[in-house]
Amino acid sequence: MKLFAEQALLGDSWQRRVLFEADDRGRLTAVTCDAQAGDAELAAGPVVPGISNAHSHAFQRAMAGYAESRGDGDDSFWTWRDTMYRMVAKFTPDDLEAIASQLYVEMLKSGYTRVAEFHYLHHDTDGKAFADPAEMSARIFCAVDQTGIGLTHLPVLYRFSGFGATAPGSGQQRFVHDSDSYGRLLEAVVKLVRAGRNCNFGIAPHSLRAASGESISAALEQLEKLSEDAPVHIHIAEQMKEVEDCQSHYGARPVEWLLDNFDVNPRWCLVHATHMNPGETEGVARSGAVAGICTTTEANLGDGFFPAETFLAREGRFAIGSDSQISVSPVEELRWLEYGQRLQKQRRTVLAMQSGASTGTQLWSRAASGGAQACGAGRGLLAVGEQADLLVLDGAHPLLCEVENSTITDSLVFSGNHNLVRDVMVAGRWMIRERQHSSEQRIAANYARAMRRLRS
Ligand SMILES: [Zn+2]
Repeated sequence: MKLFAEQALLGDSWQRRVLFEADDRGRLTAVTCDAQAGDAELAAGPVVPGISNAHSHAFQRAMAGYAESRGDGDDSFWTWRDTMYRMVAKFTPDDLEAIASQLYVEMLKSGYTRVAEFHYLHHDTDGKAFADPAEMSARIFCAVDQTGIGLTHLPVLYRFSGFGATAPGSGQQRFVHDSDSYGRLLEAVVKLVRAGRNCNFGIAPHSLRAASGESISAALEQLEKLSEDAPVHIHIAEQMKEVEDCQSHYGARPVEWLLDNFDVNPRWCLVHATHMNPGETEGVARSGAVAGICTTTEANLGDGFFPAETFLAREGRFAIGSDSQISVSPVEELRWLEYGQRLQKQRRTVLAMQSGASTGTQLWSRAASGGAQACGAGRGLLAVGEQADLLVLDGAHPLLCEVENSTITDSLVFSGNHNLVRDVMVAGRWMIRERQHSSEQRIAANYARAMRRLRS
C-alpha cells in the first residue's frame, strides 16, 4: 500500500506532503514527509490516525433512543439498566450478530478503526450456557469479519449483583460465570482470536460490585496463563451509589481500593473513572493505566464529570468509548469532553493544556494513542511499525476549505455535525470508500429484521 497525503497528522503535529507505505500485513514500513507522490494513491484530503473505541457494548445499539421517556420516579442509571435488562432477555445470537455488524459499519464511517468489545451477554435466553460457551462471542467475531473493523474482545467476568457477593437477579442470569466456566470461555475466545484477523483479547471483570477481589485475582491468574500483555478493563466508579456501596463494603472508594489491592499498570483501562478525588486522580495517572471516558453515555445516564483537566495535567492517559451507543462518533465524544470542562470551569480551550496548542489536535492525538494502549494494539500513531489504521478527511468539504494545517483537527472536532470522514483504512485495507461500506445494504437489512423482532 502506498498513499500520499498533502497533509497528515503525525503524533501531535501536522506535516505536509506525507507518503505512507505499508506491507501486506498492513504495517507501515515508511512514513516520509516532504515526499513526492510518485505512483502512490492520492488521499482525497487530510489524513489522521483512526481511533480505537475503548468501550463498547454492541447489543445496546438496539436500545439507543428507547429509554428517554420519564418513568414514575426520578430516572437514573439504575432505571435505564432495568430497561436494558428487559431488552437483553430477547437477544438471540443472530440478533447480536446483526446489530453488532450495523454498529461496526457506523463506527468505521465515523472514524473508529478498532473496537474494544466489553462483552457480557454470554448465555441463552433462559440463562443457561450455550453448548459452545463462546457462542455469543463468536457472533461478535462474525460481525468483525463482515465489516473489517479491528477487535479487542473482552469477555466479562460477572458474578454478583452487588458488593458482598449478592446473588445475581433474574435480569442478570445471561451474564453470570463462575471461575471455572469463565476459564473455559477464555480458552474458547483464544481460539477465535487465533482464527481471526486483526483481533486480540483481554479480560474484563465487570465492576467491583459484580466481581469480588478474589474473583478478579483468579481471573488475572487465568489470564497470565494465556497472555503476558493482554489488556484488563473494568467499570470502576460510574455512579455515586457505587462509590458509597464500595465505601460501606470495603471501607474505601472504588478507585482507591483498586489501586491499593491490585498492580494497576499500563495494561489496565479504568472505564468510567468518573468519581475520583484528587488523590485517586493522581494515582491513576501515575499508574500509567488508561482512563476510559464515555462522555456521551456518561451524560445520557447522568453519571457526572470526569476530572479531565486535573488528570491530563498529571500526564494521565485517556481513551474514549461509545459504550451504550447513544452516539457513535469520536468527534462527539471528544467535543463534549472539552465542552463539559468549559461549562464547569467557565473557560475555553481547557484540554489544549498548553498555550499555543490546538484543542482538537491534543484531543485527537491523545485519544488515538490512549485508545490503542487500552486495546493492546500499538501506539495509535501513524509511524513505522504501527498498523496502517487511518482516516482520510473530505478535503472537498466546505468545512475543510482553505483550512490551515494547525486548525484542521479543530475544524474536525468543533465545526458541527457533518461527518468529515471520507475514507477509512484498517490494517492497510480500505473499509470505507467515499463514505460507503461494500456490504452496508445487506448489513442494514439484517439489522432492520433483528430490530423488528426485538421491538415486537
Ligand atoms: Zn460499560
